Amino acid sequence: MLLLIPGPVTTRPEVRQAMTQDHAPWDNAFRPLYASVRERVLAIAGGVPGTHASLALQGCGHFATEAAVRTFVPPGGRILIPATGSYADRMARLAREAGRVVVPLTVAQTEPVSPAVVAAALAADPTISHVGLVYSETSSGVIHDAIAIGEAVRAAGRRLILDAVSAFGALPLDISAQPEMDVAVFTTNKCLEGLPGLSFAVARVDSLTGAVGNAGSWSFDLADIYAHALRSGWGSFRFTPPAQVLAAFQTALDFFDVEGGQAARLARYTANARTLYDGMLSLGLEPCLARDVQGPIVMNVHAPSDPAWSLQAFVDALKEAGFVISNFYNTEYPSFRVGCIGAVTPGDMQRFISAVDQVLVRLGIKNRSASRQAA
Ligand SMILES: *Cc1c(COP(=O)(O)O)cnc(C)c1O
Repeated sequence: MLLLIPGPVTTRPEVRQAMTQDHAPWDNAFRPLYASVRERVLAIAGGVPGTHASLALQGCGHFATEAAVRTFVPPGGRILIPATGSYADRMARLAREAGRVVVPLTVAQTEPVSPAVVAAALAADPTISHVGLVYSETSSGVIHDAIAIGEAVRAAGRRLILDAVSAFGALPLDISAQPEMDVAVFTTNKCLEGLPGLSFAVARVDSLTGAVGNAGSWSFDLADIYAHALRSGWGSFRFTPPAQVLAAFQTALDFFDVEGGQAARLARYTANARTLYDGMLSLGLEPCLARDVQGPIVMNVHAPSDPAWSLQAFVDALKEAGFVISNFYNTEYPSFRVGCIGAVTPGDMQRFISAVDQVLVRLGIKNRSASRQAA
């Protein structure tokens, strides 16, 4: 069974195999594992030891995003969040429920956020301290230009929090070249192709030391995770970690290196997405985004406008053929969403395209033209 969803992704059998051993996380044999994974993650982010710190937090991506907002935006502080899609909405909700003030910025969800629009919003409101940007908006499939938005943030003297959850490991990130970035957050189970259960933040040390006491939560305090590392060593967790997930992550990072790192991973995902885009067109289906804004991570495709269309029936039939895709709409009109990330290749995408063709025939769907009625 292949998971063609934007996380958790299809993993290699060797990665799953690495979970089969028990570990005592405080044991001296386990500590080097965590410490070395932190170093490797820091390097992938372009971080410099001493200037940046790699911090792991038990749990999923939302947990790391909440921790980032709580740690760096002071209580009652104001964060501008371009409304790029449902992941931006999620960051906004996490911030609001943490007592931060969200300044919404309405933007088109089908194209990258304009740096000029962000610059204008910051100029109009000097009380905004932070911008929260979703690098790869997983609801739409659009990639937002973290470098260009970062430049606008830096020019305005503000700070950037980057949700890189569905981007990190595939899209380029060099936190050293972006001093306005307090933190980038991501997880083990998307483009790094590990198992779910652990999230990461790569953060600036000067920002962390300036953020002591902000979080209002012991669990979600990145400054406390940093202080703990200084106190107890880089191989030590504050609370029980998913030790097996960490062991599997180490194996996933080995495969990441063997493949050729971020550039090679981006090349494979780009080939996956291109194969899928061309394949959908060849079947008479229509991807939701224009080719020039379609990112390499996830793709929405218009549902066929045939009365026999049912997303759940389509998803169930694909599952029988060995492919799992999302079973909910991420667009205002009916569509289906396919992930291009994980341990999958263009050959897998070709097999998926054939399966879609057969399933549409089997479900009696004759009209494949794009449905644009509200879902
Ligand atoms: C997957 C994802 C998250 C976090 O999702 P979790 O289910 O909490 O791991 C956050 N942001 C983006 C852009 C994502 O794709």
